[in-house]
Order: sequence, then structure tokens, then C-alpha cells
Amino acid sequence: MSSFYQATKIAEKTWCILECGFDAIYYLEGDTRGLLIDTGIGASDLKMFVSSLATKPYDVVLTHGHLDHIGAIWQYDSIYINSLDIPLIEVTTDQSRIDFMLNMNAMSEGRTQNQDTREFCHSGKNPEFLNVGEGDVFHLGNRDVEVFCTPGHTEGSICLIDSSTNLLFVGDTIIYRLLLTNPKLSVAERVKQWRDGTRRIYNHLDSFAALYMGHCGIVPEYTIRELDEIIDKLSADPDDVDYSEGVPKCSIGSTQVYFGLPFVSPY
Ligand SMILES: [Zn+2]
Repeated sequence: MSSFYQATKIAEKTWCILECGFDAIYYLEGDTRGLLIDTGIGASDLKMFVSSLATKPYDVVLTHGHLDHIGAIWQYDSIYINSLDIPLIEVTTDQSRIDFMLNMNAMSEGRTQNQDTREFCHSGKNPEFLNVGEGDVFHLGNRDVEVFCTPGHTEGSICLIDSSTNLLFVGDTIIYRLLLTNPKLSVAERVKQWRDGTRRIYNHLDSFAALYMGHCGIVPEYTIRELDEIIDKLSADPDDVDYSEGVPKCSIGSTQVYFGLPFVSPY
């Protein structure tokens, strides 16, 4: 079990848990409660692993409903999620999560090894889904974590700001490989939606101690900047996309924005 999860303390009572070296899960604790942010692909027994860190009862919140963030929700009775993303959970199967896990080595650009599925967390009865939205606050005891909505990567994507550390947890909203794949929106509309959602982050970058993403951990400064440059470029010309990989994308430096799925099914 421990080989699947590795926890690194990133601030006082704050841990980044890497699952298979790729999916990033976070655990924060205040004086009275804890908060688990995301649950990975479900490679193993996450709840058991978190019990080695947690000293208080804790809630679980999802930054969004993609299969590589919801993997251990069946270990819990209730989960906080923006309800717009519940349909993404409803279409996820155990097999799609297993396929994703086995493909992670390619998708993580070599960060993971081929995975063993023997300890995989299988789905069961869905937990109770509790809606979170703009301005909701998790009160952890001398530590508040506030939700703000950042649609774009998914319709229900949220970010979470921790008042005690000024750390911002962004899920897959600000990341080195950003997927904006909503087929109901044009490229221009997807760019605008993401930009509107992240405007408060970009307008107040100095107020955050660091940004932590849903894969690998901290968001490098160059990723934050390159994403902004890509969005600037696409705001000026939404047709300025590259089809060389078979799906439309735009890249600057080591950062890419994709408007189709760059991975083999099921991602
Ligand atoms: Zn995602």
C-alpha cells in the first residue's frame, strides 16, 4: 500500500500525497477538523494511508469530477463536489480507471512506472454528494479553506484557498497540460470561460504563497506564465492552434493547452 502513496509535508499541518508519483492529493488539518482535497485514481487504500497523517475527523472535497481525482470516493460516506461535475462521476467505470492507471506511465511523461492493479479501489455504492460552490468555506478550526469556482477544465472545477498558509489548490485548472475539452463550446468560448474563471488568480498572484496542482505538486512559475501567454495568444486569435498531434492544441515552452483528448481512451 505505502508504495502507491508518498506524503510530503509542504506547510504546517499540510501534506502533498503523490499517488504513483503522478496524481496529487492534499491533506490539511486545523484545530478541529481536516480536509482531504481529491482522491486520486484509486490505486490502493487511500483512506488507510490518510489515517497515518490525520489526527482529526476530516471532510473530502474534489477539485473536479475526472476519473483520476475521484478514485477513492467509495471509501467515504460523503464527498463535497460542485454538482455540475457529478455527471462525470456517473460515466466513470472501474475499467476506465484501471485503464487510466495502467496508461499513466505514458501520460505522466515517465514519472510513473507501470502499475500493479491488485490493490485497486473498486467502486461501490456512491457516497452522498454534497454541493460546494462559490464562497463556501471549510472551517477546520483556526484555519478556513474557501472555495471559488473556476469552470473551464470541467464545468464544475473549483479551486481552494487556505487562509492560514495562502496556498491555493487548483486541481487541473492551472497545470502544465491544460485540457479544455467541452464539446458544447467553441475554442474561443472555452478560452474565455477559463480566463474569466482564473482572472482572480492571475490578478492576485502575489497574494498566494504557492499554487498546488492535481498532478505532481507545486505549479512552477513558468507554467503559470506560459499558460497566461497561451491564453493571451488564443484570445487574440482562437484559430491559432496546432493539429500536428491530431487534436487541436496550443503550446508555449513546456506548457500546452489541448482542445481535444491527447491521450488514448479513456481519458
Ligand atoms: Zn482533470
